[in-house]
Amino acid sequence: MKITRIEAFQVAWNPNDRPQQRSAFVLVHTDDGITGMGEASPMQGGRASLGMIRYDIAPLLIGQDPLDHAVLLDQAMHTLVKLGPEGALTGALAALDIALWDIKGKRTGLPIYKLIGGAWKTAIPFYASIGGNGERSVDQVCKVVEQRMKDQPAAVKIRFDNPRTALDADIPGDIAKARAVRKLVGDGFPLAFDANNGYSIAGAMRVGRALEELGYWWFEEPVQHYHVKATGELAQRLDITVSAGEQTYTLSALADLIDSGVRMVQPDIVKMGGITGLLRCAALAHALGAELVPHQTQPTIGHVANLHVKASLLQSVKPAEWNDPSTRTHAVFENPPVPVNGLFKLSNEPGLGLRFNEAELAKRRVD
Ligand code: CA
Repeated sequence: MKITRIEAFQVAWNPNDRPQQRSAFVLVHTDDGITGMGEASPMQGGRASLGMIRYDIAPLLIGQDPLDHAVLLDQAMHTLVKLGPEGALTGALAALDIALWDIKGKRTGLPIYKLIGGAWKTAIPFYASIGGNGERSVDQVCKVVEQRMKDQPAAVKIRFDNPRTALDADIPGDIAKARAVRKLVGDGFPLAFDANNGYSIAGAMRVGRALEELGYWWFEEPVQHYHVKATGELAQRLDITVSAGEQTYTLSALADLIDSGVRMVQPDIVKMGGITGLLRCAALAHALGAELVPHQTQPTIGHVANLHVKASLLQSVKPAEWNDPSTRTHAVFENPPVPVNGLFKLSNEPGLGLRFNEAELAKRRVD
């Protein structure tokens, strides 16, 4: 089997989506008629990753055997390392890795979770990941959480997407929102707080102490992601679990994060390594005694790829992230992922198990 053609394009879910709001998909075609689908990190619409795929990586892969995916993508990573190795390059390689695993599944007739060693469970609980709370009032935050509780999440994470250049902008307001959400959902319900890199160390200590009193489950990315030691310091000083890693792009960087003291790490399947990379992260985290709870906010290909890996993880206690409950992506798939009674079920279909509606995809495709 040989790779014959690679397509890299954006998908506009709504006609007036700005280019930065679109998803970044790849299709890898083979000479025996199998096509694999993948997705890159959607930062700025994934255009940097799509460009690298088209101009730099695809020429390295055409004519190669897709089942050699780990060798091929490690070769590409090291050939193009000066384009990265963080961010757009690893997002591009992640998309291709997912597509090549999809091909492997379709070639063997097996779902990906079987090929990576089996699932502990194929019905996976999720947590509702809710962004944009920095700008909302306390009441607005509660309204959005109330709405998302209808999907029966196993937990809720509230995210504060404040500008990264203005730290500690509204600590009392942030704590008030955390307190109101706790009151809304009741004492026993699992909650997480995502600072999106919004605090200084002192600010994060103050918020972290409040979250401990409110019984939050974890405190995500309290300080700038590049301040690895500071993140580790907070993880060691606070009792609440401090998490980070969605902006970690290499296995070595993940090792540094764990070494700093962070005990819950969140690498993202569409940002670094794809399925192969996330499995390597899982092995590393397990060896070093850290908990791996993958970050993943894309509602279709990225989400399903993440579920295949998540299902296979030893000691995976926390639910999978689910960011986008809207139906805007559904028309493009014959079988879009939708939770039933609070669970996403992995199918027995080969590969990822997702099937495109080709006509609807064609309508939304932007090359
Ligand atoms: Ca986050």
